[in-house]
Amino acid sequence: MIARTHDVAAATLLLAVVLAQPLESVTLATAVTALIANQIGGIAPDLDQPTAPFWRNLPIGGIFGKVIGRSLGGHRFLSHSLIGLVIFGFLTHLLLEFLHPIIPRVDIDLVWWAFMIGMVSHLIMDSFTKEGVPWLLPIPIKFGFPPVRHLRITTGKKAEHFIILPLLLCAAIWLFSSNYAEINLFIDQFRR
Ligand SMILES: [Zn+2]
Repeated sequence: MIARTHDVAAATLLLAVVLAQPLESVTLATAVTALIANQIGGIAPDLDQPTAPFWRNLPIGGIFGKVIGRSLGGHRFLSHSLIGLVIFGFLTHLLLEFLHPIIPRVDIDLVWWAFMIGMVSHLIMDSFTKEGVPWLLPIPIKFGFPPVRHLRITTGKKAEHFIILPLLLCAAIWLFSSNYAEINLFIDQFRR
């Protein structure tokens, strides 16, 4: 999937998970940091690709991209698996614990969850593509949905732009509008 689809998917899944439980009050710093972490999580697995937008936007990102990509075993390998989720989750938690003294008003557990939700959404979305995802590494089988490869979509082609992306946006808008009162109350706490 292209980065834009992953961005929207990460935010939509975050919204769904957040709305599935009673909304608690959080600091504005936590909400903003969690949203950023969620978006980073949404594209993190593609750090294994030197051509990923993340690397392209850095001055010498291409070189970093190649090194990181190789150390992750190439595209759609370690970072696109359950083991990868555990490793990325562990490292992100370490980083957040390290940063916490600098950002004391941020609830790092919530930020960590937002990151992980972004990452999981990435693997789910990539499972709909022809290449599939090696969820169960080291078992070298790429899984996809539907199981028949022919019925899955090709990254960046029409089906992604005109079906998957609009469907995700509709889901996000539906979640937002059907929980509007609750979301309004949640946002209200930042206005006070
Ligand atoms: Zn990917």
